[in-house]
Amino acid sequence: VTGRIAFLAAVVLVLTGALAAHVLPPRLVDAFIDRAVSETFEARAVDEDRFALHFCGTGSPQHQADRSQSCLALLAGGRLFLFDAGPGSSQRLREANLPITRLEAVFLTHLHSDHVSGLGDVLQVSWTYGRRGPVEVYGPPGSADLLDGFALVFQHDVEERRGKSGLDGMTAGEIMGQAREIDLSPQSGRVVYERDGVVIRAFTVVHPSWEQAFGYSISHRGKTIVISGDTNVSQTLIAEAAGADLLIHEAYNARLFNRVGAALERHGGDVDPERLEQVAEAHTSTHDLARLAQEAGVGAVYVTHLIPSIPANRWAEAAFIEGMDRLYDGPITVARDGMQIELDD
Ligand SMILES: [Zn+2]
Ligand SMILES: [Zn+2]
Repeated sequence: VTGRIAFLAAVVLVLTGALAAHVLPPRLVDAFIDRAVSETFEARAVDEDRFALHFCGTGSPQHQADRSQSCLALLAGGRLFLFDAGPGSSQRLREANLPITRLEAVFLTHLHSDHVSGLGDVLQVSWTYGRRGPVEVYGPPGSADLLDGFALVFQHDVEERRGKSGLDGMTAGEIMGQAREIDLSPQSGRVVYERDGVVIRAFTVVHPSWEQAFGYSISHRGKTIVISGDTNVSQTLIAEAAGADLLIHEAYNARLFNRVGAALERHGGDVDPERLEQVAEAHTSTHDLARLAQEAGVGAVYVTHLIPSIPANRWAEAAFIEGMDRLYDGPITVARDGMQIELDD
């Protein structure tokens, strides 16, 4: 009897194993595919009332698995706006199920690759997923060259796909973005976009050696959000951020940044102290950021474009903003990829 039970148990085990190995995986893949398609349709069903920010990239040029490079999305009035589109942006936007087909405009802070490399991909992917309106790309002088370059890169892809049903009806220029270069050379700031209560201003910041690098301020439904772009401590930014609800600002942590230099030296890398100095001059230290936030009297600070890029965990993030709370009274948050801020709350 025991032998028969053991035999039956073995048969059951083998059958269960076979079931797990051959029946379950295909079912899981089927479910995965169903979900991916239904999410695409959910993303198109936009909540017209939602007013929110979404961090689609919080890292800097050093690659870090859990932080893509510069990307911030704004949802307002049923439309999607992007502030920079570094590498990895379209992947992050899809992961968050954001309505990429409603992409209305992109605002570039400057033309460093960690802020623009993903733009061609975002434009192409939003179109193949169903975007049917043109996208305006605002940015400093040189933005039109950038778009011409992306148009050339994607030329053959766009031509081939435009012949397919459902993808016709737009010109290549509408698909791959329309440049709106902003020239602020004699001015400190002005409104560059205003539609249905969404007002966006551009202002100059200090990011050597770019002649024009911008920060942006968004006003909508009585809230003001200021975005720094890449900058050293900027007086125009302090003026633009005065009394803002949110300041989303880049930063480097001086201590961690020095550790990168020391580690490079230990590993025999040729460390040019002047180069490290130049990086520091092009950005804002965490402590300077805290001081300027206090001076501008902003309601809250989100730290992004982290230099050096650190893992997305609370220990690393606490080390990054160490000492800021002694200089700024408001709440300080280290932004993470995937983080959302609902602005009506
Ligand atoms: Zn930069
Ligand atoms: Zn940058």
